[in-house]
Amino acid sequence: MKIGLIGLGIMGKPMAKNILKAGYDLMVSDLNANAVADVVAAGATAADNKTIGETCDVVLTMLPNSPHVKSVMLGANGVASYMKPGAVFIDMSSINPVASKEVAAVLAEKNIEMLDAPVSGGEPKAIDGTLSFMVGGKQEVFDQFKPLLDCMGASVVRCGDVGAGNTTKLANQIIVACNIQALAEAMTLAQKAGVDPQLVYEAIRGGLAGSTVMDAKAPMMIAGNDKPGFKIDLHIKDLNNALDCAHSVGAPVPMTASVQEILQWMHNHEGGQKDHSAIAQYYEYLTDIQIGR
Ligand code: NAD
Repeated sequence: MKIGLIGLGIMGKPMAKNILKAGYDLMVSDLNANAVADVVAAGATAADNKTIGETCDVVLTMLPNSPHVKSVMLGANGVASYMKPGAVFIDMSSINPVASKEVAAVLAEKNIEMLDAPVSGGEPKAIDGTLSFMVGGKQEVFDQFKPLLDCMGASVVRCGDVGAGNTTKLANQIIVACNIQALAEAMTLAQKAGVDPQLVYEAIRGGLAGSTVMDAKAPMMIAGNDKPGFKIDLHIKDLNNALDCAHSVGAPVPMTASVQEILQWMHNHEGGQKDHSAIAQYYEYLTDIQIGR
């Protein structure tokens, strides 16, 4: 099976290397020539949209957002215009589920099936090949390509038809953002009340408040480490998609709206490229403290 992968950023690059490790034949493309060279050194072949579309049985994308996926696949010189009927497109980017359905509808006219298969887990799990995939699309297409996703993930779950993967990802992103906000608020309260946030973390991490978010982000907040990880600007993108989707289906999401405003404040204060745990810096600004220091 010949595979094409477009998008070799923080996530796409290690995912490409895991596809190669599993023994697949991989063609890659990215606007960033250094990223392409790195993955070619690991065994991939560099190719343009035309060659990827004409040659590959399955085309994967790992791009920032809906407009990038639409333009790479459906724009002028887009990959889809070169793909053979019967080929499959799997988008692993986190995009608006409405856009996933739109792309799938255009591809269906060309007899190309699509899965939307966004991931959670971040760069460390992309490197380890232990991402969680949430997938939308037909059962038989999912069954056929699950082994390919398995080489990048520890968990690969079909959530429904096309769009269901990205709807699930929006749920994931709401829960993560609200958790980070709650953690930052609680750590700020503890320190203002005279209790060491490190000891608060150690005391509560094994109880009901403990979480994967707490274990990943509390140490970063306490150390003042805002190196991304997952960038605030990408989380703003995800929550914009969540708000869009929520408004279109009539689901009120007041907590999402509130944390989105804090992320936006961070963006406006040169925080867009920082890790999303830097939400803590908003609280530090409000209270004139530095958590853990
Ligand atoms: P990134 O910005 O590091 O990488 C995106 C890559 O796409 C870049 O290398 C860029 O050059 C490339 N690109 C953009 N437009 C292109 C085009 N027209 N043609 C070819 N290449 C193009 O982003 P990332 O962190 O790798 O995230 C990718 C997706 O995965 C996003 O949707 C993000 O929300 C999602 N995601 C990220 C993380 C994380 O922790 N970083 C975790 C889970 C999901």
